This record gives sequence, C-alpha cells and structure tokens, in this order.
Amino acid sequence: MKDFTYQKYEQLLDALLLNGYTFQTFSQFLVNPAERAVMLRHDVDDRRFHSLHFARLQKKLGVVGTYYFRMFPQSFDTALMQEIEQMGHEVGYHYEDMDFANGDVDLAYDLFKKHLAQMRAVVNVKTICMHGSPKSKYDNKDVWNKYRYQDQDIIGEPYFDLNYNQVFYITDTGRRWDGFKVSVRDKVVSEKQFPIYQSTDDILEAINKNSFPKQVMMNFHPQRWMNPGWGWWKEKWLQSLKNQVKFWLIKIRK
Ligand SMILES: [Zn+2]
Repeated sequence: MKDFTYQKYEQLLDALLLNGYTFQTFSQFLVNPAERAVMLRHDVDDRRFHSLHFARLQKKLGVVGTYYFRMFPQSFDTALMQEIEQMGHEVGYHYEDMDFANGDVDLAYDLFKKHLAQMRAVVNVKTICMHGSPKSKYDNKDVWNKYRYQDQDIIGEPYFDLNYNQVFYITDTGRRWDGFKVSVRDKVVSEKQFPIYQSTDDILEAINKNSFPKQVMMNFHPQRWMNPGWGWWKEKWLQSLKNQVKFWLIKIRK
C-alpha cells in the first residue's frame, strides 16, 4: 500500500484506535488531556475536499480531529466548515495576517479580528494556528509579540500552548514525517529526544510495538493525501523537488 493515500491514513487511525489512544480535539486536550492522547491536526492549506474526506473517514471510525482554515477560496468554504463541525470535529482559524499586512503588526491584529469574526459567523472557533509559508519574510506568530489572542476568547495556539517536552509533535510537512529538517517555519522546540520517523509505516510499526509516544499532536496537510494514481505521483515528485529548494533556502539564510 502506497504512503500518503487515504487508505494509509485509515490504517493509521485503525492502529491508534487498536492501541488505546484517545482522540481529542486540540481544545479538548487543553481542557482535559488524556493520558494516552492523539490530536489529529489538519491544516487546510489547499484542496479543501481532501480535508472533508479525512473528516468523513474519522466520523466513520468514531474519532475526532481539528481543522484549521485559511481565508482563501480553496480553504474557506462555509458549508464545508459547518459540515466538518457538525461531525463533531473542531474548526479553527489558520491565520497568516502578518503576511496580509506586510509585517505591520497593528494592521495584522485588525485583520486577524476581522477574519476571526467572519469565521465565527459560520462556526465556533476556540483555537487558532499559524500558517507558515516558506516563501514569506514574515513569521505570522509575531503578531503575538504585541497582542494577546486570549483577549479574543481564543484558548489555544499549538505553537504556544503545548509543552513539547511532554507532547510529541510530528508533521507531514514536505510529504514526509521527518520534514522538519527542511522546514523553514513548521518547527517546535523540545528538550526531549523524541524518535524520528520518515514514513507512515515507520509510525505504524512504532504504534504496534508500543514505542510511539503517549501524547501526540500529528499535523496533516490533507491536500497531499489522495488515492493512488497520476496525481499521487505528481505530488510525490513535486514535494521532493520543493524539499531540495527549501534545503538550500535554509542554508542561504544561515
Ligand atoms: Zn498552513
């Protein structure tokens, strides 16, 4: 079975279920963390129907996840966001207002409030998560150097409100599970030496051997996951090319 397919994703959920993980949304975990918990976080950067597919797969298995939407038509779809929320999943704002404001922090905060209100007109929003574009000069988290999202009734932002010495963070950035090595923005700081996995099969093996960490946030970009076929190959080669570009970008910036 090929990696980064819907079939592989379902296999992963099955393994987590079978091995006694409690599936929690990000806000559920913040309020009442389970001892053995997995948070499935989905950044809906693009191809929103892939996220809908993920949400339905979870619903079928009786588990929940968290979905962060951007302010672009390929992501922000009111009917789709409501459908995902009605399945019991959490919906939040995937903000990039520093990019929209060209680095003007006051304007970024105003835009953030405006966009949050637009989203709250459609769904409940308790948590937010930054979008990190490797091409951008700005770090979208920088708006919080001056302002507080708590003032907007937001209870959490994964990059600030999880203790990564305790919670294992793993992301499919770059279409691999060890892509943090070539990621410009999607990194967290941890003092703990967590294991490194490259493929979903590596993760499955760890879960089944009971060596996978106990509290985990897994970050998915569902637009990269699909049925096998031409699109799957295109995504595979395109991402491997992008990873090489990012590798050099990081070198040059250093
Ligand atoms: Zn994103």
